[in-house]
Amino acid sequence: MDPESFRQIGHQLIDYIADYRLKVANLPVMAQAEPGAIRAQLPGTPPESPETFDAIFQDLDKVIVPGLSHWQHPNFFGYFPSNAILSSVLGDYLSTGLGVLGLSWQSSPALSELEEVTTDWMRQMVGLSENWSGVIQDTASTSTLVALMCARERTTNFSLARGGLQSEERPLIVYASTQSHSSVDKAALLAGFGRANVRLIPTDERYAIRPEALAAAIEEDIRNGLTPCAVVATVGTTATTALDPVEAIAKVARKHNLWLHVDTAMAGSAMILPECRWMWQGIEEADSLVINAHKWLGVAFDCSLYYVRDPQHLVRVMGTNPSFLQSAVDDKVKNLRDWGIPLGRRFRALKLWCLIREQGVTGLQDRLRRDMSNANWLAKQIEATPKWRILAPVSLQTLCVRHEPDGLNGPELDKHTQAWAARANASGHAYLTPATLDNQWMVRISIGAVPTEREHVAALWELLQRVVKE
Ligand SMILES: *Cc1c(COP(=O)(O)O)cnc(C)c1O
Repeated sequence: MDPESFRQIGHQLIDYIADYRLKVANLPVMAQAEPGAIRAQLPGTPPESPETFDAIFQDLDKVIVPGLSHWQHPNFFGYFPSNAILSSVLGDYLSTGLGVLGLSWQSSPALSELEEVTTDWMRQMVGLSENWSGVIQDTASTSTLVALMCARERTTNFSLARGGLQSEERPLIVYASTQSHSSVDKAALLAGFGRANVRLIPTDERYAIRPEALAAAIEEDIRNGLTPCAVVATVGTTATTALDPVEAIAKVARKHNLWLHVDTAMAGSAMILPECRWMWQGIEEADSLVINAHKWLGVAFDCSLYYVRDPQHLVRVMGTNPSFLQSAVDDKVKNLRDWGIPLGRRFRALKLWCLIREQGVTGLQDRLRRDMSNANWLAKQIEATPKWRILAPVSLQTLCVRHEPDGLNGPELDKHTQAWAARANASGHAYLTPATLDNQWMVRISIGAVPTEREHVAALWELLQRVVKE
């Protein structure tokens, strides 16, 4: 494809996406596809001769778009809000279109330096001190993996330069909570700690980690000759957006010289609101943290901001310096390959840059405040309605709800919950994610798709009251 064809078809493609965003509210929000149905409509072998983009557009209409669950639909209340703002989409196209790659600073100086500037803008926006340095990773899963590898190397005084974890006499232990994200568990396993050395600490009635239980677990491990290494606190857990008490956890971590990583993948966006910053009180005591800008903030996936207090340590763990990547300016610049796992780096900063410039900080703040106010409004309606329960504090924009008719409990109640959630999703008018909390099914309502206004939340509430009776 030459640049002139790209120009012509590209305009068509932008029109296609703009039309999609305009009409998406009329589509059933959750995909109604049966497993395998989409694959069955597509040829199993690649085309021998070139095809036109017209043919591709036709398949988009006929096969692809009908096979989507629509995250940008105003009635999308599943998982978490993500991927949304169109100015960021343009930044993403720009990144792809410019076609550059960050391997070293020299391979694309602006790529590295814009990443430094935008992560520092975000640092200021969320109220972190100048003691933090940021880098963009793909996902929170990667950020947390990097954090645990850095923790491992700090505790073992760089065992990677010797026999690695395999040469440690005493196993290293990682602590998280029973509510932490599965990526924490995965990171601990991938970083070589092993299942037997991951402790999931119980939580309180607000689903936040109990610091005294954490302290007790650490002390017991020490008594047993083990080496406590890292604790992962979560501000904004996946199921309920619970807030682990960072300050109290930091105190325990400091006492025993543990690495403190704060997983604030979802809730981190809310820290652009000064009134929310109490939620991560104590954050300055942490060693690393992750904020997924591709969630509620609205950046196009993927854009996970990883902040550390000791970049030298990060670079010492992640650094490599093969001759073909060395340059004369290496002592004056950041080589971001040494700030994470992959060598090659997309120009992700562009989509964050476009978003922040086009929305302004106040534009982003207004939208998040709108979503929190909608969540509060819905919580009030639900609390005021007999047989309905809100199961966890609504700290941000996620509600955990259950409809509990008299006499229904245990497996019977689970059946009822899953049935009405399925009816709501099958109606095409809402997309909700059921999940378990305390071994009982409930339904999460995550508010914050960009087009979601109060009227959509009100319509959802009407729908829920209907489907529980069907
Ligand atoms: C979304 C989320 C993750 C995982 O994010 P990925 O970027 O998909 O890896 C981890 N932790 C929390 C608290 C999250 O909300």
